Amino acid sequence: MQSKPNILLIYTGGTIGMMKDFETGALKAFNFKKLLQKIPELKQLDCNIETVSFEKPIDSSNMNPEQWENLATIIEDSYDNFDGFVVLHGSDTMSYSASALSFMLENLNKPVVFTGSQLPIGDLRTDAKENLITAIQIATLHHKGQPVINEVCLYFEYKLYRGNRTTKINAEHFNAFASPNYPPLAESGVHLNINPNAILQKQINKKLAVHKTLNDHVMIVKMFPGISESVLSSIMAIPNLRGIVLETYGSGNAPSDDTFIQILKKAIKNGLHVVNVTQCSGGSVNMGQYETSTQLKKIGVISGKDITTEAAITKLMYLLGQNVAPAVFKTIFETSLRGEMQ
Ligand code: ASP
Repeated sequence: MQSKPNILLIYTGGTIGMMKDFETGALKAFNFKKLLQKIPELKQLDCNIETVSFEKPIDSSNMNPEQWENLATIIEDSYDNFDGFVVLHGSDTMSYSASALSFMLENLNKPVVFTGSQLPIGDLRTDAKENLITAIQIATLHHKGQPVINEVCLYFEYKLYRGNRTTKINAEHFNAFASPNYPPLAESGVHLNINPNAILQKQINKKLAVHKTLNDHVMIVKMFPGISESVLSSIMAIPNLRGIVLETYGSGNAPSDDTFIQILKKAIKNGLHVVNVTQCSGGSVNMGQYETSTQLKKIGVISGKDITTEAAITKLMYLLGQNVAPAVFKTIFETSLRGEMQ
């Protein structure tokens, strides 16, 4: 590597680059060049920064698989010319995007750091500057000529997390993300402390493989006491539905009555992949621990273990896009592919 690392800053949109619309007062994305003018500090960083922006920057509520494909293509096309990537993204769906990209970018040997902010960069009290500057510094970290971080991660409010382990937990606090089932990869204070035991190791001699086909015939169903048979069976009958993330109670429990189990059993027999994740904010699914999950295990429900809902739905999209054979789908889903589950 030459003396100064090359970093590509990719602007997708989000609050970080938004301004108030004079007429409506609502925040909307604005020109990226203006965004950079607001952070002269970037020039002081010991790296070369190039920037690229989505043609139309978006509020991340408008994020979708097509935009993920755009993002993966930008990284793929510039992979050999840069030492690290920083993705500026709205916080609302950042955990979904970081999860999706982690699956799409196989054998990643460079850092891809997602970040954003709760207040626009032009705001006096903004959290954007610290998030952006430290995210770039993290992307430049090298040891013996090799990047320290080799995975898709998310930096927000002094913590670096594995992206596919995160979830947005607060709409107002600067501390907007959590990684309930996995420790931070790094913490920023007076020093930037990397947790060497938590980071993924480099994929030696493996070339980046970018998978852009995602299947969106999937959905998330959250269980609640009183969910009716007719609602559930209508969902299972949706044409072309290929996978469901079922958010169950506690350690993966759901109603044990026969009608519920039979609806699921029939759907699974017809080829639907049903993944059990807990609706608790932390902890793991453990089917068989209670009587209320024993039947789920028997009928072939996939265990999401300690995966987040965001990682589960994007992993479903990815594996379905890969046309993984039905006979091995459950085993592959239950295997950690990018450190997204235990
Ligand atoms: N609505 C914004 C977005 O996700 C919020 C943010 O950027 O934090 O794009």
